[in-house]
Amino acid sequence: MNRDFILQDEIDRQHEIALSLHSETAGKRACVITFGCQQNENDSERIAGALELCGYEITDDPDSAQMIIINTCAIREHAEIRALSEAGQFKGRKERDRSIKIGLCGCMAQQSHRRDQIYKSYPYVDFVFGTDMHHRLPEIVKNALNAKKRFSFITDAPHNEFGVISEGMPVRRENRYKAWVPVMYGCNNFCTYCVVPFARGHERSRRREDVVAEVRSLVELGYKDITLLGQNVNSYNGGCDFATLLDECASFDGEYRVRFMTSHPKDASSELIDVIARNKNVAKHFHLPVQSGSSRVLKLMNRRYTREQYLEKAREIKAKVPDIAVTTDIICGFPTETDEDFADTMSLVREVGFDMIYTFIYSPRVGTVAAKMEGQIPKSVSNERFKALSDMENDIAQSLNDRLVGKTLRVLSDGLNKNGIPCGRSTQNKIVTYDKEIPAGTFIDVKIESAGAYALSGKVI
Ligand code: SF4
Repeated sequence: MNRDFILQDEIDRQHEIALSLHSETAGKRACVITFGCQQNENDSERIAGALELCGYEITDDPDSAQMIIINTCAIREHAEIRALSEAGQFKGRKERDRSIKIGLCGCMAQQSHRRDQIYKSYPYVDFVFGTDMHHRLPEIVKNALNAKKRFSFITDAPHNEFGVISEGMPVRRENRYKAWVPVMYGCNNFCTYCVVPFARGHERSRRREDVVAEVRSLVELGYKDITLLGQNVNSYNGGCDFATLLDECASFDGEYRVRFMTSHPKDASSELIDVIARNKNVAKHFHLPVQSGSSRVLKLMNRRYTREQYLEKAREIKAKVPDIAVTTDIICGFPTETDEDFADTMSLVREVGFDMIYTFIYSPRVGTVAAKMEGQIPKSVSNERFKALSDMENDIAQSLNDRLVGKTLRVLSDGLNKNGIPCGRSTQNKIVTYDKEIPAGTFIDVKIESAGAYALSGKVI
């Protein structure tokens, strides 16, 4: 028996509990509030699916909900503070109506020091549950409806003793043409700044046949943009390697795109790049987080590749897939980062020519190796580096986008943006606006007439 998988008997038991709750949840609403990454968004779709199975109507409006679950993120302090402040919003409502249930989950709830804080300072939070407990949502809801005391469903050494991949629980997808499909969970890399291995446990992969079946059914349902998710998809190990899985997921009939998030540069294989190059359904976008351009800092981060190795990988990607967009993550102000280290980052960014950079100012996370390092960088220095990097990247992104003016791009319509302008995404994941409204989820050709650093504009042809 594979210890990573929840037994079918347990899934059946949760379904039975969910059905038994319908008399209690009839006419009630539930709301899931999400912070953080795509993994959390996908988790929230699964939480909402389980709440629906329990009989709740799902709403986006927490004020009309009787069950509120806040799915938290711990990647930076700012994200944790926002989640706690969101929880604080419900204090008054809970005081007025004790029957409302408030739960907290996600990476922040998985950390013991934050849980202590929640127990102490947020008495109106009724329950917390860990990142490997989503399949037990029906049981958690039952407890919440009946328990007299606050409770938690968390294992502090998660993902080992019990199964942690559950197949067969429902998903309530937020979008009818874009979907997330997790292929693996957890991470074994222990980058020295990151809490993910502590919050989400060791790497474990879904079975190849389960992933492929989910993608096939999404394609048959008309989904057009499918993102395979994992903290480090290149470590996928559920019956084949990731390149093979991606190829298989992108080989069904019909026009659709398959993307993936996120790759670790040390594991991004040549086979994977070959699949992107040859399979027309694989999006031409590679997000490859570099984090720093200095080999010295990369070593301190425990990234296990050098600047030169990263550059070689980026060159291979661009040579094999000339129309690809390469994007990255960079941390400014990692402990001990010198001006020379930062200059190395700037020169690497220039050399690769990224289409976009997600730049972050280093934020020490409790329990990580980096948080205890000497040589923490003053905020003012990190801010200056952040600004210099952003300014340079604006120029690089602008010049890359200028080259697309006059070209025709295949765009998947997102309908109207928040300003009422027709917009969509190219295969490179670039935002494209255009002249006429097209139903969301439709592929169109757009002739690009002008370019900004982070968006293109053109006419539908
Ligand atoms: S690869 Fe590193 S940064 Fe990414 S989730 Fe794993 S430990 Fe965190």
